[in-house]
Formats: sequence, C-alpha cells, structure tokens
Amino acid sequence: MKIINDERCVNYRQPGHPERPTRISRTLERLRGQAELPITWAKPLPADETSILRAHSAGMVARLGEAHNFDADTPYLPEIGEHARRSVGSALAALESARAGEKVFSLMRPPGHHATREQSMGFCYLNSVAIAALEALATGTKRVAVYDFDVHHGNGTEAILLDVPGAAFFSIHQFPCYPGTGAADVGNNCFNFPVAPRTPAKQYRTIFSKALEGLKRFKPDLVAVSAGFDAYARDPLAQGTLEAEDFFWLGETLRELGVPLFSLLEGGYSRDLPELVLAYVKGVAGK
Ligand SMILES: [Zn+2]
Repeated sequence: MKIINDERCVNYRQPGHPERPTRISRTLERLRGQAELPITWAKPLPADETSILRAHSAGMVARLGEAHNFDADTPYLPEIGEHARRSVGSALAALESARAGEKVFSLMRPPGHHATREQSMGFCYLNSVAIAALEALATGTKRVAVYDFDVHHGNGTEAILLDVPGAAFFSIHQFPCYPGTGAADVGNNCFNFPVAPRTPAKQYRTIFSKALEGLKRFKPDLVAVSAGFDAYARDPLAQGTLEAEDFFWLGETLRELGVPLFSLLEGGYSRDLPELVLAYVKGVAGK
C-alpha cells in the first residue's frame, strides 16, 4: 500500500475546529507504528493551474489568497491556498499511482468534496477529487467514476462533474445533514444515495452495495474514492453507525471491483480516525 503525504499539511489550524492537524499526525503515527500492512510512502506532485482551472474558476482560485473567511466553517488561514494545492497534488499523485497499478491512499488535509467551481466551503478549499477526475479524463481515461462515502453529500464534486461526458458521481451520505443537498439524482451522471440518521450498519452496507452496482453498470476505467470516515458510530459530526470493520469491508469491496482505484481522505473527526483509515487501507490492499 502506498500512502501519499506531505507533513506540512499539519501546519495550519483554527483553535476548536474539528478539521484539525491531529487527524493526520495521529494517523501517520498509527500507520508508521504497525507492521501488519507494508507501506511505501510518497509525496504529492505539484498541482499546476491548468489542472485546478478545469474544476474551479480563476476568481475562486484567486480568492484563496484573500485574507477573509470563506464561510462560518471555512476560515481563511495563512497559506491556506498552498495547503489546498498540496492536497490536490497528492490526489494527482494518487491518480498516477493507480494508473501504474498500485494500491494507493492520499492522506492529506484540507479535504475537498464540498468545494464547488466558485466557492470554498465546508472545510474544503479546492476540490481535489474533482480535479483528479477531470485530469484523468484530460489525459486519456475514457470513463472515470467518483465514489464518495463521506457521511456528508459531496455537493462540490457533484456540481463540478454534473453532465461531464465520461464522468459519473456516486455519493452515499446521511440525509438530512450538512450541506442539505443530495436527496435525489441530478443530471444524467450524478447518483445520490441518502441514508437516514442512525441507519443500522447492516442496512448502510446494503446502500453502499446498491451504489456500487450503479458504479459497475457505468463500467469505469478508473475509480476515485472520496474516503470520509465520519459515518463512524462515534464521530461527533453526524449520526452514522459504522465501525472499523465496515470501513475494512468497504475497502475490500472496492478492491474487488478489479478497476484501478485511488482514495483520498475527506472527513472523519473522531479520535478513532487512525484505526478507521488503517482498516480501510487494509481492505483496499487485501490484507
Ligand atoms: Zn464529511
């Protein structure tokens, strides 16, 4: 299993904010301190403007350098644009690794799936998964699917990939919940699977499987996964019921698709995030 990370991603914080540096630093510690799953480490690629501007407007990208908050959840912080670019670069490196046949996970912050073409929001500044999906299509991939299992709807990814030829978006998320979208399918390629708060894990898995059936029918050449771990039973931000074994199962089930696959960290705010990431990547690796 290859893990992509740049440790500078822990160098920004807003006191009291759930999207905090320890999400990554404690996960790094956990992954480095275990021997069951062999890991190779790699760094992000540079994220060039051409790639970013496929998904975002020039005005939105310029706004990253303006020192005022994006919304109540999404503060302006010094060098936040650079942090967001490194997170994008990590997704691009993960894309390259997946194409080379490697099992790969991008372990970076900030997350990305709420950022729309015009707006940073919901802890997200640039939409790394959408940028990587559009990069894939621009560089030879015919059909790319994004599978988003973060507990929140990937509204930004949906808005960016909406009706893009060759792309499809599958989101499984709690509804009602932030950001309030995702109740039904949108356009001809965005498929939403709302899950009621406190839905038992067994039923949640059935909905994951239903979304995967749709993904299989799309016949993607490449799958990008927005891996959020906030549907966990003890996550403070939503009312999910999943346990580590469910994330292992998700990783395993995605691996069994037999399609080149890369995953990147979105949400996950509990203290147990390191265990959940480890369980998922073990599933992806087939360990
Ligand atoms: Zn989330």
